[in-house]
Amino acid sequence: MRLADQAAIVTGASRGIGRAIAMALAAEGARVVVNYHRREDLAVAVVDSIRQAGGSAEPFGGDVSQSGVAESLVAFAQERFGGLQVVVNNAGAARDQLLLKMSDEDWRAVMDLDLDGPFRLCRAALRPMLRARYGRIVNVSSVAGVVGNPGQANYAAAKAGLLGLTRTLAKEVASRNITVNAVAPGLIETDMTADLGPARDALLAAIPLGRPGTPEEVASVVAFLASPQASYLNGQTIAIDGGMTSC
Ligand code: NAP
Repeated sequence: MRLADQAAIVTGASRGIGRAIAMALAAEGARVVVNYHRREDLAVAVVDSIRQAGGSAEPFGGDVSQSGVAESLVAFAQERFGGLQVVVNNAGAARDQLLLKMSDEDWRAVMDLDLDGPFRLCRAALRPMLRARYGRIVNVSSVAGVVGNPGQANYAAAKAGLLGLTRTLAKEVASRNITVNAVAPGLIETDMTADLGPARDALLAAIPLGRPGTPEEVASVVAFLASPQASYLNGQTIAIDGGMTSC
């Protein structure tokens, strides 16, 4: 149990990758705040699953793209669990369009959720982590933020920005025993990738392992990065993409 007696926040944990991360952290002993936006029913089901397995979790509804929600989330974790050791910025969404046709609104909405949201939660979480001289922050970026992807200028820019935030914050807080790392998933089977249409075959052809990844395959890496055992990993981006960006 690498995370016994620790408290964690996972944003966007009602479904997909975030759900798997919340379950993996709980299986390692962490008490988990399961954040969601709209699907309270699914978040409550995640919490129930964790509790049935003997773990501890609480749901927290809140749109992390909105100012003030990060502070409430951190206060909630501290009040319910007495501290905060782990933060996983997972909530994210895409609004795909070729740049020439992309609206200001679609650009802004993706920035607000995928980049501003993690910025605000990192800032809020740092206060208790700095006091405790310990913390693990894991940001869920994307291969799109590493190599780009046509039709995803907003998403790729936000996810690349998240990598810059990760590397910089890693340098700012390392002396206080807080590490900040990122994962960059490739094609993972979730609601987000359910309707890719013909683009799916092109993506699959670019994956040396020849298949999409599962949320659990992302979660196991995140659980390691969130653990005390990852103590000398800092400011890194780990691609979890079946080899897509390695060659
Ligand atoms: P998903 O299945 O669409 O789930 C999205 C999750 O984020 C849901 O729990 C959703 O909550 C939550 N969410 C959405 N907007 C939110 C908001 N404003 N505030 C709080 N929570 C919000 O997505 P996914 O595929 O698991 O993706 C998770 C992360 O991995 C994202 O950052 C995504 O960019 C990244 N990623 C995914 C892939 C992939 O292939 N799937 C690849 C690379 C990176 P509700 O259920 O309440 O709506």
